[in-house]
Amino acid sequence: MAKIVVVGSINMDVVIRVPHIPIEGETIMARSVQYYGGGKGANQAIAMSRLGGDVHMIGRVGKDAHGQRLYDNLLENGTKTAGVEWDEDQPSGTAYIYVSDRGENNIVVFSGANSKVDVAQINRYEHLFDDAEYCLMQMEIPRETIEHTVQVCKQKGVKIILNPAPAQPLSDQILEGLYILIPNESELDLLCPGPGSLEEKSAKLYGSGVQNLIVTLGAKGSMLMNEAGVKYFPAVPVKPVDTTAAGDSFIGGLTIGLSNKMDLEAAIQYASLVAAITVSKMGAQASLPDLAAVEAYLA
Ligand code: ADP
Repeated sequence: MAKIVVVGSINMDVVIRVPHIPIEGETIMARSVQYYGGGKGANQAIAMSRLGGDVHMIGRVGKDAHGQRLYDNLLENGTKTAGVEWDEDQPSGTAYIYVSDRGENNIVVFSGANSKVDVAQINRYEHLFDDAEYCLMQMEIPRETIEHTVQVCKQKGVKIILNPAPAQPLSDQILEGLYILIPNESELDLLCPGPGSLEEKSAKLYGSGVQNLIVTLGAKGSMLMNEAGVKYFPAVPVKPVDTTAAGDSFIGGLTIGLSNKMDLEAAIQYASLVAAITVSKMGAQASLPDLAAVEAYLA
């Protein structure tokens, strides 16, 4: 099984249930407050660790109670944490998620320690890339760090999988030579604004030198564009309960499939299955299946 390095965010998700979303100047009482491990980096690392992957995280938490819980959560799920550091100054990254009785939500994210995952930290853990086959990144850490990590991976022959979320403009330096770029539909729209069909926008991004572009399309499945052309993959039909973390689990399943030597198309089919199981359960990290859950689904 191939080694995978994740360079990304680790957040505490604070879910605050409220009767209604407060307006400017309003004070209201919450119905409940719950804490969940989150952050796209940690979610994807945990998705892969539960599926049996050899996963090494590079990230940063605050020296606070949330940081300890987030660190332990990675370890308990089987993610290797040698590259996770504790920041002396910044609190752990936190997402405050307000959910109203009507199901509306409203999210405020504080990057905290994630904003200090810097070039120097990547250099301290450069050895982790030596025998790695894949490096998985998202965009909740500083862009210079992503650009630098791309260079390190290119030097060491590590294949890069980038999930451009949250979407922001990508330099040619990042795009050129990426093994896989994997946005969802709304991220694709933000990366290629203006008119144009899914395939036209995809062709524009693909044209900037990525080897494989995969666009996830929610319940419609996903699309792969590469030198062989365009191919669509249906979603695995399930009754959706909560689509939170669908993308994170798809990306995790995809990378695990590849690290288990599946070809790209087989890995996309495996990812679709893993994501379908995730959307059929409540929660973000809580809904990410382990190997036994995938096997039970197939049985
Ligand atoms: P994100 O969570 O990033 O918005 P998507 O909504 O595109 O990502 O979902 C990622 C993948 O999860 C899809 O490509 C699909 O395979 C799977 N998926 C999402 N929603 C459903 C659904 N309702 N039923 C089955 N599979 C789904």
